[in-house]
Amino acid sequence: MKILVTGGAGYIGSHVVKQLLETTNNKVVVIDNLCGGNFNPIPVLEKIDKNNRLKFYKENLKNFSKIEEIFKKEKFDAIIHFAAYIQVGESVENPIKYYMNNTVNTTNLINLAVKYNVNKFIFSSTAAVYGEPEIVPIKETTPTTPINPYGQSKLFSEKVLIDVANSANSFKYVIFRYFNVAGCDPKIRIGETHEPETHLIPLVVKTALGKRDKIYIYGDDYDTEDGTCIRDYVHVEDLADAHIKALDYLENNESDIFNIGYGYGFSVKEVIDTVKKVSKKKFDVEVTKKRAGDPSVLIADNSKIMKKMNWKPKYNVLETICKHALDWENKNS
Ligand code: UDP
Repeated sequence: MKILVTGGAGYIGSHVVKQLLETTNNKVVVIDNLCGGNFNPIPVLEKIDKNNRLKFYKENLKNFSKIEEIFKKEKFDAIIHFAAYIQVGESVENPIKYYMNNTVNTTNLINLAVKYNVNKFIFSSTAAVYGEPEIVPIKETTPTTPINPYGQSKLFSEKVLIDVANSANSFKYVIFRYFNVAGCDPKIRIGETHEPETHLIPLVVKTALGKRDKIYIYGDDYDTEDGTCIRDYVHVEDLADAHIKALDYLENNESDIFNIGYGYGFSVKEVIDTVKKVSKKKFDVEVTKKRAGDPSVLIADNSKIMKKMNWKPKYNVLETICKHALDWENKNS
């Protein structure tokens, strides 16, 4: 197969490209505008690519005619679509930026998929579509009520996919709703470098390495055991593996939506303690005010993906996730 990976130079996309090159015989075409961080993984991925199966276009998805030219030329069999903006706070301040990129550009991509008979579409969505769910673990059937434009922009794209699949017989999708993705390639060749970084694990490892003065805990009076928020942290390598499985899944199964998480969570304090343990470093921690829109507990019910895709996590230990994140940050010092 020839697979288009949009956002293939981003954090999650690059790990999926790596696995496509290492564990499948597929050809991989990446479209990315390299806007997501200060690390470009393409040269590393080109080294991993032993038999010239990787091609890279530096392009923005908003350039519809350029994207269509690529579709005409390449004749894709499947699309894995990552390219998106991901900062919740920014989406509240600048919703148009999020709807234009995450929804409008995605709709164009879906349109091109149908026009050029690309019948498999794997979409990277988010647990943010659930908003602040009352019941955890969260099932795929939990009502979707996003509380910020980021989650809403992803949910709109989900709806477009569902409607298009209902109208175009052969078009199928897998929608993945990610919980908290962290860690990196176990060989530490590629990893997470968001700019600016807002995620907990990379910020804590930066603090352990002395790149930041202290780590701030956003609130410690939540209704949880230690008062800090609980999240379901999933290793990016396990997450990437689900995308590889989804390509096979769509050969013989119908379109569907899957959560990706481990089904259990850790508090902010537990994450900080784990980084202290694996780094053997002490660092300052300060409790500050709550961040707007942070639900107290987000944990996936992952029984659907385990059962229907036979997804078996391999890196589901918080120490491993934090150690890999730490080693990556150390390498990029
Ligand atoms: N968090 C924190 N300090 C930070 C960054 C994050 O206490 O510097 C908390 C945040 O409030 C949330 C959890 O860590 O409860 C995970 O946040 P992150 O931004 O990594 O992911 P999110 O859950 O927002 O997708």
